[in-house]
Amino acid sequence: MAQTWHSHLDEADWEALCDGCGKCCMHKFEDEDTGEILRTNVACKLFEQATCRCTKYEQRFEQVPECLDIRKLSDTEMLWLPETCAYRLTFEGKSLPSWHPLNSGKSQSVNKAGHSMSGLSVSELDIPEDEIVDYILTS
Ligand code: SF4
Ligand code: SF4
Repeated sequence: MAQTWHSHLDEADWEALCDGCGKCCMHKFEDEDTGEILRTNVACKLFEQATCRCTKYEQRFEQVPECLDIRKLSDTEMLWLPETCAYRLTFEGKSLPSWHPLNSGKSQSVNKAGHSMSGLSVSELDIPEDEIVDYILTS
C-alpha cells in the first residue's frame, strides 16, 4: 500500500491525535469566488454540546453522509479542516500546540485555550437550514 501522511499512526495514535475541539462538526461554507472556508457554530445533529463529541461515533458515516473520513480526504480537502486541527497540522508537517492534550496531558487544556466548541454551538436541529449562513463566524 502507498505511504500516506498518516501511515505511521496506528488506531490508538490516530484517535489520540483528535483534540476533541469539535470544530470539524460545525457546518461550513466555501466561498465560490475565493475558495475561503467560512465556518459557523451550527453543529451537526449528532454533536453533543456537553461532551463536545459525536453521540454516534461508530455509526457516524452511515447516519451523516456529509461526515467525512479524514483518512480518505484529498490534499485539497485536508485544508477544509480547521487550522488548529491536529490532523491538519500533522498533514502539514507542523507541531501540535502546547494546549493539545498530547502535550498538556489534560483534555481540559483545549477548552482553557479557547479552542473548544463546547457550549458555543447551536444544533442544526434547532434552526432552519436556510438560516445556517447567518451563523458564519467572523473570528
Ligand atoms: S477539528 Fe480535528 S482535532 Fe478538532 S475535533 Fe475535529 S478532527 Fe478532532
Ligand atoms: S456525524 Fe459525528 S463526527 Fe460527523 S460531523 Fe456529525 S457529530 Fe461530528
